[in-house]
Amino acid sequence: MASQQNKFVYTTERAASEGVTDHKKLPKLIETARNLAMAPIKAGAVGLASSGRVYLGANVDFEGLSIHAEQFIIANLALNSEPELTHLVVSDDGTVFRGPCDRCSLFLQEIDNAAQIEVLIKNVNEEDGSFKSLESHMPDKFGPDSILPAEVSLLMPRDNRLALFNHDSSRRICSNQKRCSHLKCMALKVALKAANKSYAPHTECPSGVALICEGDVYEGWCIETVACNLSLGPVQAALVDFLARGKGKGFDKITGAVLVEKKGAKVSQEDISTMLLKKIAAPNCDFSVFHCYELPKENTWDIM
Ligand SMILES: [Zn+2]
Ligand SMILES: [Zn+2]
Repeated sequence: MASQQNKFVYTTERAASEGVTDHKKLPKLIETARNLAMAPIKAGAVGLASSGRVYLGANVDFEGLSIHAEQFIIANLALNSEPELTHLVVSDDGTVFRGPCDRCSLFLQEIDNAAQIEVLIKNVNEEDGSFKSLESHMPDKFGPDSILPAEVSLLMPRDNRLALFNHDSSRRICSNQKRCSHLKCMALKVALKAANKSYAPHTECPSGVALICEGDVYEGWCIETVACNLSLGPVQAALVDFLARGKGKGFDKITGAVLVEKKGAKVSQEDISTMLLKKIAAPNCDFSVFHCYELPKENTWDIM
């Protein structure tokens, strides 16, 4: 996951060299974030994680399936195994800073410490503005905590204990996946790993995707919110990884994709993934779907 030129993730060293180690300095990067937007509304977001790394997010429109700047950051935090977001600044014009919209608030609420995340509020006439906890934005009942057990939270490490059906994977790729060097076999492993990290506590339909582009593989997994129709699909999340690590390559350079999801999932990602890839990936993009099942709890042996 390491890369020198990740426009969306600033290491602690880079954050220090940009003078943004203190949360009050996060607005310094808002124009950089806004310039990464690929949508009619050039909104950007800058987040400080507990590790000291700084994450940028931007509005991106994937052919109608848009992702907001804050959602971008959340997906990127998850992709980078970042445990906690502490501060967030969001702006769509670079001068006014606001709290997250309803849709992004839903995503933020899936994070363990959501209520304590400090968000910058600054109107056009203010010099600096001030940080206020997300909780103070929402005086009403906060979070999905009444539905989910305490140990379930978006940025916590997770293993969904999913394994592929052997007959399925070997028939459709190659018979020696453990030792082969096929890019597609590697993508299948990545997609399964991604599905195992997927955050799907509301539907219990985890899924993972791997995208293949010029010899590299990008990963993403479904990230749910209480409002399931506003969840982030695995292809969208993988496109966040692609934008962050893909060195500016266009979506039309994506030539392969693998989706792993549960057999008979009541919320399947297959149709929407097919539709999205048809719109943005290379015309001959090779898209495969593999089905997995959940291992019984007592099994701890190798799942691939
Ligand atoms: Zn939003
Ligand atoms: Zn192979």
